Amino acid sequence: MKGRKLLSGVQTAANDSTMNTSVQSAKLPFLIFFGFLVVSFFSFQSKQKPLSDAVSVIVIDAGHGGKDPGCNGAGEIFEKQVTLGVALRLGKLLQDSLKDVKVLYTRKTDEFIELYKRPELANKNNADLFISIHCNSNKNTTAAGSETYLMGLHKTEGNLSVAKRENAAITLETNYQNNASYGGFDPESPEGHIIFTLVQNAYMEASTGFASKVEYQIAKTGKIKSRGVKQAGFLVLWRTAMPSVLVEIGFLTNPSDRAVLKTPDGQKQIATALFKAVREYKKERESRLPKTTPVSPPKASGKDTINKQISPVRP
Ligand SMILES: [Zn+2]
Repeated sequence: MKGRKLLSGVQTAANDSTMNTSVQSAKLPFLIFFGFLVVSFFSFQSKQKPLSDAVSVIVIDAGHGGKDPGCNGAGEIFEKQVTLGVALRLGKLLQDSLKDVKVLYTRKTDEFIELYKRPELANKNNADLFISIHCNSNKNTTAAGSETYLMGLHKTEGNLSVAKRENAAITLETNYQNNASYGGFDPESPEGHIIFTLVQNAYMEASTGFASKVEYQIAKTGKIKSRGVKQAGFLVLWRTAMPSVLVEIGFLTNPSDRAVLKTPDGQKQIATALFKAVREYKKERESRLPKTTPVSPPKASGKDTINKQISPVRP
C-alpha cells in the first residue's frame, strides 16, 4: 500500500518536472537512483525507532569544515568557522544547564567530515534531536535572516537552491558517486531532490515544533530576522531517525547578518537562542512522559528502588 502510494507520488512529481521525456538516456541515472531510494526507504522505515518523549541525547552538527569552507562571508569569514563557533557555544550552554542531556558533536575542530557520517553518528547513539547548523548565501546581498529547514518537498526554487548548495558538499568527498549511502544521488539534479524528499518522516511533527521554537528565539534576539520554517531535501537530514532540523542562521552575504555572525558575541547570541529553543522543546516533550505517583518508600527498600520508580523510562 505504502509502496503504491509512494510510486504514484513519484510519478506525479516526475510528470510535473521539466524533464525532457524524449531524452531516454538522461533518465537512466534518475531511474537507478529511484530504485535505490525505494529499496533503502523500506529497509530504513523498518529501522526507525518510536519517537521518545525524553530528550536525553542531542547531536550538534557544525556544517562543513576542513577543505570544505562552506559559503564565503565577503572574505571576512567562512561558513565553517561560524557554524563551529555557534555549535561549540550551544553545546557548552546545554552541558552547563541541562545536566541530564548528553551532547555529541559531529566535529569540534576544523576538519572535513563526510556528509553521511553526520546522521550516522546521531543514529548510532540513539539521539533524540539532531541540529545541523549552517549559514546562507545569496547573490542578492539584501537577502537576510534565518531559515529553519525540515526534510520535505521544497515549495520554492529558493528553498531548492539552498538544499542544492548544501548537498553539493558531497562532491568534495572521495568517490562520492560510488558511496552506497548516497545511492548515485546527483546534487545538481532537481529530480533527485524531488524524489528523496517524498520519503515519509515519522518525526515531522516534532521537528516542526522544534523548528518553530528556533525561528522564534532567533528573531527574539533582535539581531537576525526570521524568514520562517521551510522544507527542502537535505541529504544530512534524510536518514536521521529522530526529530531533526537544519538551521540557516543568517546570510553571510548580507552585511548586517555577517556583522553578527562573525563576532564571538554574535555567535553567542545565536547559540543562546538555539539553546532556549532546545530547553523549551525538551520541557514540552518531557511533559508528556508518564507521571509517576509519589509513593512512600517500602520500609525494607533502599534508595535505588525509589530512583528506579521516578526515572523516566524510554518506551
Ligand atoms: Zn552550509
